Amino acid sequence: MANLFDRARDVIPGGVNSPVRAYGSVGGDPRFLASASGPHVTDTAGRRYVDLVMSWGPGLLGHAHPEVVEAVTAAARRGLSFGAPTEAEIELAEAIGDRVPPAEKVRLVSTGTEATMTAIRLARGATGRDLVVKFAGCYHGHVDALLAEAGSGVATLSLPGSSGVTAATAAETVVVPYNDVAAVEQVFAERGSEIAAVITEAAPANMGVVPPEPGFNAALRRITAEHGALLILDEVLTGFRVGPSGWWGLDGAATRSRAEPSATGAGPWTPDLVTFGKVVGGGMPLAALGGRAEVMDLLAPSGPVYQAGTLSGNPLATAAGLATLRLADDGVYAHVDHVADTVAGAAHEALDGAGVPHRVQRAGNLFSVMFGEAAARDGVRDYAGAQGQETFRYPPFFHAMLEAGVALPPSVFEAWFLSAAHDDAAVEAILDALPGAARAAAAA
Ligand code: PMP
Repeated sequence: MANLFDRARDVIPGGVNSPVRAYGSVGGDPRFLASASGPHVTDTAGRRYVDLVMSWGPGLLGHAHPEVVEAVTAAARRGLSFGAPTEAEIELAEAIGDRVPPAEKVRLVSTGTEATMTAIRLARGATGRDLVVKFAGCYHGHVDALLAEAGSGVATLSLPGSSGVTAATAAETVVVPYNDVAAVEQVFAERGSEIAAVITEAAPANMGVVPPEPGFNAALRRITAEHGALLILDEVLTGFRVGPSGWWGLDGAATRSRAEPSATGAGPWTPDLVTFGKVVGGGMPLAALGGRAEVMDLLAPSGPVYQAGTLSGNPLATAAGLATLRLADDGVYAHVDHVADTVAGAAHEALDGAGVPHRVQRAGNLFSVMFGEAAARDGVRDYAGAQGQETFRYPPFFHAMLEAGVALPPSVFEAWFLSAAHDDAAVEAILDALPGAARAAAAA
């Protein structure tokens, strides 16, 4: 493995094609994977792990689900890429809109980054305004305008933003603390007429999991509407994962199923634009942008906002996405919710048992552990809190789990992902590994 990492670093910057894969914050050499099936990944040394990364979210059904693989294989036999419209693209747009009605019209792209980048361009085109408001700790892909105080790998590497982003671009992004309605009100009071959009993770999971406080998303909807700005709900990570209608289905839909009542008594709310990725592509490079028809129709060729892609709506990716959405029935979500309860509960018990102060934070079936007294006492509601936790407890915890055959995300700022394929044996393996890992965290 070390040999492969050395070889990789000779020809690939940092040895990886996406930064968090390099194990930078947990130390050690990354596992190079050879295959994956169901709840497992297997490395090039032939060692098998129960996976809690699931390709960072896409693997809702488990790795290489036979019916998804069959759909992709069948599509491949018909042609790898046409660069022309296909019926399957219509079917996928319809499938997305059926599950998430605010996505009245849908444009397919290849990555979540493209989806959020396009959403911002569209919001600027629709409003004729330049400013974008984002929240510290939220990650929306490596879009220039959205890298300021971003989560995920930017947080893992402790970067304030990114080199290579011009000062002019950075000046067009206003960053506010998450879960802070007053801060959003103030930005709008000062610069409301310049703001094109607020973009937010539907439920943030890139600074660890930091759920929106009840009524927070609804407040963003109210404030943006009052000022003629758009609300962009980024469901790249949560979409089709926390439920068939994503986080919006739990929080904004008229028939929402979220357990906690809204503290502000907020009713249903609807975003203008929604971005999807990960699960919607079933493990293939596909993402999507949906929203109000009148806004979406501003995209070329029906409107003046340009957006395009040689591989957009790729037939293999579209087939994977369609098969995945078709298979993601209520039973799948009930199972993922159930195993998330079990694993989150067991992580909490193991850490408690080892005397490690912590809080397991949840957003539907997504969760992560925040370490430290402050997190244990108050919970973490924003990026400052996430950064203030005892991050040093995570590397030994991570490596003890890995030694025991369980692959956690290699950063404390990422969510743990489960799937429909995590059966009793896989869950048992996780539960067996947790107490030892908790002791390693305690000793840190
Ligand atoms: N938005 C969110 C909420 C994400 O979690 C991610 C990726 N983790 C992105 C956007 C970017 O997606 P991609 O990596 O496919 O560009």
